[in-house]
Amino acid sequence: RQERYRALRDLPAVTKDGVAIGLQLNAGLLVDLTHLNESGAEGVGLFRTELQFMVAQRMPSAAEQQSLYEAVFTATGDLPVTIRTLDIGGDKILPYMPALEEENPALGWRAIRIGLDRPALLRVQLRALLRAASGRPLKIMFPMVATVDEFVRAKAIVDREKAHLRRHGHVLPSDCRLGVMVEVPSLLFQIDEIAKVADFLSVGSNDLMQFLFAVDRENRRVADRFDTLSVPALRAFRLIAQRAAAADCPVTICGEIGGKPLEAMALIGLGFRNLSMSPAAIGPVKAMVLGLDASAVAAVLDAEMKRAGDGASLRPVLTAFAKAH
Ligand code: PEP
Ligand code: MG
Repeated sequence: RQERYRALRDLPAVTKDGVAIGLQLNAGLLVDLTHLNESGAEGVGLFRTELQFMVAQRMPSAAEQQSLYEAVFTATGDLPVTIRTLDIGGDKILPYMPALEEENPALGWRAIRIGLDRPALLRVQLRALLRAASGRPLKIMFPMVATVDEFVRAKAIVDREKAHLRRHGHVLPSDCRLGVMVEVPSLLFQIDEIAKVADFLSVGSNDLMQFLFAVDRENRRVADRFDTLSVPALRAFRLIAQRAAAADCPVTICGEIGGKPLEAMALIGLGFRNLSMSPAAIGPVKAMVLGLDASAVAAVLDAEMKRAGDGASLRPVLTAFAKAH
């Protein structure tokens, strides 16, 4: 099977009815990037910067951060890479930072919330990224954004850092795009506004599902209480895909859902054209894409999502569709 996937490596991911699907990689450590070439991925859709911080003995200095990101850009070469600013807090603890006593860490002081409340931390990271990407394109996205205003404030910090570097004679990135993770459900109700101000969106389905269904993503006891292929979940995904398209805002899915062939099939049917996933998922998802009739799965979803308004899962219907095709 591995052999078969390897044979697909250099084939473009295009469905039978001619829809091109961008398949990218999720990564977090340099070692993950060694899979870039062999997987045939078109780039890195999500680089989780917190992993490098989590394995460090102490907070990486500005210079250390810059060389970490330079190494990332060296490893990715000309392929695009989307870097996510620190998503710490919640379950992602830095051993050298004092642990917070929080009743609900997943809902607590984390990610962009820390970045905005302690801008020094975010600023150092942004400056390191801007310096490392000198003269090349840079894509940055912010995790756990809950309001448009949070993104606007984060963007203002980037602008300040750019101005600072420019004043000091540094060569800025050739192109700097700022995006937002769509993973807090409140963004679903500001989707038009966020799509207007962000350069791109990336759906963090792991957290989006956790918060949408109020199901702890780490708690096995409740893990089966919802299905990512149930109508409410699919409607949330469809809303994002449709509104992003209407606003001409590029959108990717970078949660685990994009790396599962059946789920990825459904996402394509809902209108997603870019998926980012773990290296091992690229082969199976590409095999699915090559055999898929995207308009047929879109038609099935259209019909079924109208009918199954009671929260039912479309998993059986989609599994039957996949088998029949
Ligand atoms: C997500 O929430 O889906 C996501 C991609 O980010 P993480 O898994 O790192 O929270
Ligand atoms: Mg997340």
